[in-house]
Amino acid sequence: MKKNDIHKYLNLYRDLYGDNIYLDSNVSEDMPRDNSNKLDEYLNSIKDCLECPLGKTRKNIVLGMGDPNADIVFVGEAPGKQEDLQGLPFVGRSGKLLDKMLFSINLSRDDVYILNVLKCRPPDNRNPSKIEIEKCEPYLKKQLKIIKPKLIVALGRISAMTILRTKESLTNMRNQIFDYEGIDFLVTYHPAALLRNPNFKKYAWEDFKLIRDKYSNV
Ligand code: URA
Repeated sequence: MKKNDIHKYLNLYRDLYGDNIYLDSNVSEDMPRDNSNKLDEYLNSIKDCLECPLGKTRKNIVLGMGDPNADIVFVGEAPGKQEDLQGLPFVGRSGKLLDKMLFSINLSRDDVYILNVLKCRPPDNRNPSKIEIEKCEPYLKKQLKIIKPKLIVALGRISAMTILRTKESLTNMRNQIFDYEGIDFLVTYHPAALLRNPNFKKYAWEDFKLIRDKYSNV
């Protein structure tokens, strides 16, 4: 049974029997975690953020989407135009490619969680500034702390550099499993880079096969 299905059943039981199902001594220890409420509450508390100037220029804040109990979390750089318009991560051209890459390892965006280092779109899709990263990074950290995935996948160098606090090249960071606060951490190409340089797709495929073989239980 897929983890998503387990949560569907849990929610059904919860509707029928109330929250006390978690207190049943026979089952509570084996119950999978359910972070949905905690994550929803947290996202609600930051949705009106105005900590940096991007708060004034954004159309929508883009906090993340997917399974709040996911084993695998993908971290992009920042919302682009489409993401800003829709309030969802990776819904433009890069997102379509990310969907295909997930599909190639039998996953969909409902099986994972997808978010960005920055929650608001930098005008003209410029690189995030130092101050924007500084203000936004605590949100990312807290989201990761709530979700507690088994694997974090950085999509592109900016995301990897921010989280790992390094200036290494993407090539040097690929093919290694880093440790981020006890969670495995892998770096791969940003889908936008793959759209610009289709030659890199074979390397991204290597990364995705590793994700499939080591971390995906579907
Ligand atoms: N690029 C990103 O890094 N994130 C998005 O959400 C969309 C494009």
